[in-house]
Amino acid sequence: MTIRRYYGDSYTTRFQARVIETGGPDSRPRAVLDETYFYPSSGGQPHDTGTLGSSLVLDVEVREDDGAIVHHLDSPLPEGPVDASLDWPRRLDHMQQHTGQHILSQAFLRQAGAPTIGFHLGQETVSIDLESSRLSDSAIANAETLANEIVSSNVTVRAWIPDQAELAALALRKTPDVRGPLRVVGIGDFDFSACGGTHVAATGEIGLITVLRTERLSRGMRVEFLAGGRARADYARKHALVRELSMALTCAPSELGASVTRLSTALVEARRQIGAMVERELDSEAGRQLDTAQRVGQVRVVAQAWEGRAIDEVKGLALRMTTLPGVIVLLGVAGRALSWCSPVRKMFPSSLSRSSTAPWPRWDRGKAGGAASSRVRRALPRSNVSRRSSSRQQASSPFLPREAVPAAGRSRRGDRRAGSVDRARSLDLAPCGARWHP
Ligand SMILES: [Zn+2]
Repeated sequence: MTIRRYYGDSYTTRFQARVIETGGPDSRPRAVLDETYFYPSSGGQPHDTGTLGSSLVLDVEVREDDGAIVHHLDSPLPEGPVDASLDWPRRLDHMQQHTGQHILSQAFLRQAGAPTIGFHLGQETVSIDLESSRLSDSAIANAETLANEIVSSNVTVRAWIPDQAELAALALRKTPDVRGPLRVVGIGDFDFSACGGTHVAATGEIGLITVLRTERLSRGMRVEFLAGGRARADYARKHALVRELSMALTCAPSELGASVTRLSTALVEARRQIGAMVERELDSEAGRQLDTAQRVGQVRVVAQAWEGRAIDEVKGLALRMTTLPGVIVLLGVAGRALSWCSPVRKMFPSSLSRSSTAPWPRWDRGKAGGAASSRVRRALPRSNVSRRSSSRQQASSPFLPREAVPAAGRSRRGDRRAGSVDRARSLDLAPCGARWHP
């Protein structure tokens, strides 16, 4: 079994050891040393990286069979002596986050009665999961304050394996379900935890602990925090952001909140005024469009297309026009064709027979796109829209009861209305500078 030197010394980064085993069940290069300072992934703390000889250490893990520490490498190593080097910035970061977690967990236990049930140390975020369904802002602030008091007090951190009598006298934050010798990490007399990770020697090396945010979980609350260099980097980023915002808003950092509130209020008012102006303009435009619409009997047809016009604006325009009886609207925006029509009951209010028993088409009210669009296109000029037989198109017209549309070559009741459809087909659509895509 590998001797785990990191248990007694978290600060050694260069050492010599002997490669006692290489190879493995697959082709990945690996090495087992007689002793190592490389920490393997465990207990929520990621593994160390570094070098063994000329090989990069990519991963470190504990082999369950015999407890050996396996170093996964980018290239194979021969058995024998080897010079080893750890990535110290990465190790120090893990030590700061991990010790910070011990302190913050004890702080939440004391200030909010919330025990820690999980710990995650990622490349970007660090979090603890608390067995508490709700934490007040003041409880979080109190825990953060207490944690930073322990940091600034520069309390000694000690890791050791107590005998059974000493262990029984220690107030462990959580008693692990483990038999045999137990490694305990003590932060002064503030916190005692069973832990196998790497920690700083004194809390002052952490520098700062800051809580970023909390998140409700099904079984508790997640608290995301940063410690040490990560917390200082976060402060620097936010300080730069505050400086940029202060310059942009030409105000002192202390006045940023009031400035943003004033801007937000002004933006809401400006949007309200613009919305009212757009509504008035659409009312006027709808009137102009209807005044110049092509007439087919009692039906007015409006056809137009634009490049780059907001689709909601076009819909608003169409809906204004189709609230009136006898209006067909065909509009398009940048490759998208839309069509609307007045509700059927308003299309031919005086000419439809109330005695008709034929079913109405499903399309029975002003509506955009989809089936309505295809039905409207069937009533348009044959050359622009469809080359199918006229009798088939007439039979499927959405504007008239089925029996009101004459079959090709014969005359029956409803000829006058069918004639309206024919005239509608003779319209010549003229999109305004945009390509029409039916
Ligand atoms: Zn620990």
